[in-house]
Amino acid sequence: MQNLNLFDIPAKIQELRDKINYHNYLYYVKDTPEILDTEYDRLLNELKELEKAYPQLITSDSPTQRVGAVISEKFEQIKHKFRLYSLDNANSDEELTDWHERIKKYFSEEEKIEFVCELKIDGLAIALTYENGLFTKGATRGDGLVGEDITRNLRTVKSIPLKLFSPDDKLPELVDARGEVFMPKSSFEKLNEKRRELGEAEFANPRNAGSGSVRQLDPKVTSDRDLDIFVYGGVILGLEGELPETHWKTLEIFKKMGFKVNPTSKLCKNIGEAFEFCKYWDEKRFDLEYATDGVVIKVNDLAKQQELGYTARSPRWAIAYKFPPEEAPTVLEDIEISVGRTGAITPVAILEPVKLAGTTVSRASLHNADEIERLGLRIGDKVIVKKAAEIIPKVIGVDLSARKGDSEPFKFPKRCPICATPLARKENEVIYYCPNIMGCAAQLRGRLEHWVSREAMDIDGVGGSLVNQLIEKNLVKDPSDLYILTVQDMLSLERMAEKSASNAINSIQISKTRPLGRFINALGIRYVGKETAEILARNFHSIDNIKSATVEELAGIEGIGEKIAQSIKIYFEDPDNLDMIEKLKKAGVKTEESKEEIQKERPLAGKTFVLTGTLSTFDRNEAGDIIKELGGKVSGSVSSKTDFVVVGESPGSKYNKAVSLGVKILNEKEFLEIIIPLQKSFR
Ligand code: NAD
Repeated sequence: MQNLNLFDIPAKIQELRDKINYHNYLYYVKDTPEILDTEYDRLLNELKELEKAYPQLITSDSPTQRVGAVISEKFEQIKHKFRLYSLDNANSDEELTDWHERIKKYFSEEEKIEFVCELKIDGLAIALTYENGLFTKGATRGDGLVGEDITRNLRTVKSIPLKLFSPDDKLPELVDARGEVFMPKSSFEKLNEKRRELGEAEFANPRNAGSGSVRQLDPKVTSDRDLDIFVYGGVILGLEGELPETHWKTLEIFKKMGFKVNPTSKLCKNIGEAFEFCKYWDEKRFDLEYATDGVVIKVNDLAKQQELGYTARSPRWAIAYKFPPEEAPTVLEDIEISVGRTGAITPVAILEPVKLAGTTVSRASLHNADEIERLGLRIGDKVIVKKAAEIIPKVIGVDLSARKGDSEPFKFPKRCPICATPLARKENEVIYYCPNIMGCAAQLRGRLEHWVSREAMDIDGVGGSLVNQLIEKNLVKDPSDLYILTVQDMLSLERMAEKSASNAINSIQISKTRPLGRFINALGIRYVGKETAEILARNFHSIDNIKSATVEELAGIEGIGEKIAQSIKIYFEDPDNLDMIEKLKKAGVKTEESKEEIQKERPLAGKTFVLTGTLSTFDRNEAGDIIKELGGKVSGSVSSKTDFVVVGESPGSKYNKAVSLGVKILNEKEFLEIIIPLQKSFR
């Protein structure tokens, strides 16, 4: 604690409270924090220390006495039936041991304390209410007593059951489940990439992206974002039979009801096992598809939990063991300027190698010139690098106190570092471009590498170094030139033997018949990635149809906005692009595809489904539409040709027929487990 004059303490406390409340507002309501979590935690700890030393100054509205969030006025409020809490933190092994010592005092020496360890999901805390098994209300944690009504948005999260399962039809009167809604890391990356391309502000981390997506006024926006949930507890009222006595048992009941409970959760016999769990996941957390910032350790026995009780903010029976931060200081040695296949200029920070989140980091993304200016970067600066959920680490700040006197602001280049063409920037866009599309070797290399890549024309045996040589020898000026290369041409390249030369030519020739979606993706039209390319193929069936479509027709297709439509139009107005497409056609590359062919490529192609009974997630028509969208067929009657019968509640005679014919039967949960991943990868 800093040395303060006694008379200054109340003012200092007030200053800290104001600051914390301001940052709470930005974090919980706006989803756009201005400071790092570590900085926020430092402010809160400083306040806690001061209040500990001067308990007479504690007030009930102090942020130390309340659950974090402020409630946004844009939502209706919901009064929670059962209060929600925050968690106390243990920032080191010692603090975890201290917590263990504290709770041990409540019980006799002989009493064994078991723990349940769960990963602390870094998302948005929510409460889900089910009345007689039906999902009726969903709310944010808010201040713990009152939350924001986000029921409609939560209904669009596929892993939240709209109706609970019960093998014997006995559902509790009321279930108040608590969980964390989150955005998987890969979806967060994709969303930010899209926002970056569209010149929109990026989300700082998956937590803010998840929270921002679920706290939308328009549920359609939420449903377009890929969100998931883990339920980690709650209250069950009116359950027939034996009531759970432990937290572990409660989790098992939740699982049976159809909630998604984190499969990594573990019952630990003692605190030693809990420590092991923390160590294990501290190292392995980076392999997970979601962000976690620690482990929540909970006393397993519910009677013991009751005995331990709560403080004003958090339960005494649980603690959040926080993983060490994923940020580290290092030195910015240089800023490298790279040129992408669309000519986009991306600055990359070259860093003094630093150990961060289990890996050594020596490069970090800087996104664009504005970002460099915003951070005020200078070569030689001491910078803070963060590697949270992001696969690519980011520079997030500069330590100005460590700046050398002779350093100068970084000057963003005015010319392309590869072809020296003056760089251009379009109105309202943050990214600089090299406009020399046809002549810039870096762009050509990028385009060709994209063309041969797996997600595009998938040309085996033609990789980066071969592409470089083909460009250097002037053998290829655009992708269409690949298709007129001969074995002789290949043999003129370095280290190219007869066999690999003919293999490469063979692979190029085979790629001529790739599905239309792949071909469209290969063209590298701005804003048109793999998914948009598939949508275009499904809706237009040929390159010529896309070329002649108007912006309105293009933008009218679901999944293609105005900006993408404009970009497609611009692409097909460029004579160089049209020329290349003609050459590709001449070389025999497939540029059209019939409805039937496209249908065949879908994941459920050739599979016949029959639906019977009432489904809780959607009605039978909606389920049928999804099956058809994925290429499957929906039939009204069961026969030996039926592949799957999906059985909802109160099924009809089709169920019995399926049993007698030995047709594979799927309950709703199994059906969802099949279609949700397919929908995600196919859309
Ligand atoms: P918290 O996030 O540290 O812990 C409590 C929450 O953990 C619970 O509400 C619950 O939703 C969640 N949780 C996740 N997995 C869980 C599990 N398995 N079991 C139980 N709970 C689980 O506490 P908080 O009060 O919500 O927020 C504080 C955090 O937010 C801190 O990390 C702080 O740094 C950050 N914050 C940052 C800013 C900023 O401006 N940067 C502002 C406010 C808060």
